[in-house]
Amino acid sequence: MTETGPIVAVYPGSFDPITLGHEDIARRTLRFADRLVVAVATTSSQPKKGLFSPDERVEMIREVFADEKRLEVDSFSGLLVEFARGIGAHFVIRGLRAVSDFDYELQMAQVNQELWPEIETLFLTPDVGYSFLSASIVREVASLGGDVSNFVSPQVATRLRERFEG
Ligand code: ADP
Repeated sequence: MTETGPIVAVYPGSFDPITLGHEDIARRTLRFADRLVVAVATTSSQPKKGLFSPDERVEMIREVFADEKRLEVDSFSGLLVEFARGIGAHFVIRGLRAVSDFDYELQMAQVNQELWPEIETLFLTPDVGYSFLSASIVREVASLGGDVSNFVSPQVATRLRERFEG
């Protein structure tokens, strides 16, 4: 691993859509990373299940972080470690909300390390107020006409309204 030079981190996920919990994790990362790439994963075991297309998700994240010059947004398909290597990132950021996240996250971190030993996964916990929040809960509440303004940024809330009002 490079011992000097900028600290580049990648924060991968589905971000369908980005929530205040995701934003909190990204901002925490920028406290110690020089550059953060938020990476929308476009390959999923359930590719048809997305509410927003990968391009829409990328657009929303860009809108939300428009003022943050050290944060970039991209999408990737295939192996995360290959994407990380390609952008010069040695740190993968993941959020841990509760013990229920742990088994899967530990397994992914270990597999990624097996695939590319130089990669380190860092787990961050969000502000406790966001511990209950998931993109799936946001989708559910929005689909039922509920107010999501405490869960997502205004730009995202608007998109959700448009999506469900048709
Ligand atoms: P979700 O689980 O909300 O569908 P993703 O699959 O996009 O989100 O998750 C991307 C990463 O963000 C994962 O590491 C996940 O644990 C983390 N994450 C999601 N929601 C939160 C939250 N409210 N607080 C902290 N981390 C979160």
